[in-house]
Amino acid sequence: MRYHLSFDPEEQYIHVSLSLSGLSEEATILRMPVWAPGYYIILDYPKNVVDFEAFDPDGHPLIWEKSGKNGWVVHHGNCHDVTVSYRVYANAHSVAECMVTEEKAFIPGNGVYMHIEEKKNMPVTVHFTLPDTWKHISTGLKRMEETNTFYAADFDLLYDSPVYIGNQTLIHFTHEGHEYELAMETPEGFEEQDFVGDLKKMISSCTALIGDVPYDNYCFILMGRGGGGLEHFNSQACFTYGTYHFTTREMYNSFLSFITHEYFHLYNVKTIRPIELGPFDYDKEVFTPLLWISEGFTVYYELPILLRAGIINKDYFLKEMSAVIRKVEGKNGKNHMSLRQSSYDIWLNFFNNNANGADTRISYYDKGPIIGLLMDIEIRQMTDNRRSLDDVMRALYWQYYKEKDRGFTEEEFWQVCAEVAGQPLMEMRRYVDTTSAIDYAKYAAYAGLRIDDDWNLSVVEGCSGLALRIRESILGK
Ligand SMILES: [Zn+2]
Repeated sequence: MRYHLSFDPEEQYIHVSLSLSGLSEEATILRMPVWAPGYYIILDYPKNVVDFEAFDPDGHPLIWEKSGKNGWVVHHGNCHDVTVSYRVYANAHSVAECMVTEEKAFIPGNGVYMHIEEKKNMPVTVHFTLPDTWKHISTGLKRMEETNTFYAADFDLLYDSPVYIGNQTLIHFTHEGHEYELAMETPEGFEEQDFVGDLKKMISSCTALIGDVPYDNYCFILMGRGGGGLEHFNSQACFTYGTYHFTTREMYNSFLSFITHEYFHLYNVKTIRPIELGPFDYDKEVFTPLLWISEGFTVYYELPILLRAGIINKDYFLKEMSAVIRKVEGKNGKNHMSLRQSSYDIWLNFFNNNANGADTRISYYDKGPIIGLLMDIEIRQMTDNRRSLDDVMRALYWQYYKEKDRGFTEEEFWQVCAEVAGQPLMEMRRYVDTTSAIDYAKYAAYAGLRIDDDWNLSVVEGCSGLALRIRESILGK
């Protein structure tokens, strides 16, 4: 399968041409995803497809029909080579949807490419023809020798590899044997030495946690002003402040936390993953009760990763954790929805801003990191500080991703926790599966901390023994 993409910046369209060769059946069903992994909402990408056509090698049109909202059946009889063409309307300011303007194109694959039904494992190449004024292509995809041509071993990888094309500022660097590209749409205020230096420290801190780097190259696609980011196996696409002039240290920390979050996802969700999350069914919702691990622990790990990298300090760590506890405990939703349920029901609530939300729901982005911290403390408490949540993450990576090459089930997750801690985490599971009130004071005390009436975590002076060792392991001396 060979794709050829060109652009109509004025009308905001991507022109797609797909060459299929060696077809064996008399008809072929092409499918376009209706959602993008990491973005748990049905986006119905096929709504942007217009002028679908199919041709035989002599250029004669072939008969086709739709099959459901995201399928196209092309009847080609005994003709084995077929060309398909269509246009994709690209006018969305989103990390999961296409945008084409006079200056640039942002192409998340799910909204552009189609695969042959039941055959996502086929290799595919994509060639881009650029308007004269666009200079660079940034993506995690593998570059081929032919100019502006890229390769993916299968469609999961193709769909997981957004492409940014335009006049972005590029910074390339090698770090610990891997190639990195930083692609910035709005580089104003960017100080290469400082930023890349901190990025390298963050990468080292993150990869040291797991002990393996599964990619050859990684691309940071940092777009202009906007909200949101999306993780991929060897890239991330994020909106930014639109500037790298950070007026406060907090603003800088919060931006680096965001980049760290999307980066740590290369482990937590892309490789360390619930069994439902890959290989993906792109035709409909994929329900999992475990996004509190994939998202919640990723929020938690922003802090230990940046602390170990020397970028944030323990005061920032405690302030951020206090804020998230205050957010959950300050709303009624905690009494109506469990963490597990917030994960399963995300397909209803991803962009659900109903007025009753805060009173009836919680977010795994908030309660998830709290469970991350408490579980980290509890495992340390149970093992005399010899094991931690890091050991759970490593066990999941090595046992399931590397050895079994699959995700883990809910029971397998709790089993791994029990193996690491030496006993089942019964109380933690109750906090996840039910709305039962969390005993913060107990866990704070285990780590030489206290929590006040306004949910502020602080250090207990003069504590000693195991509590001191646990605190110093998490927060440093
Ligand atoms: Zn995330």
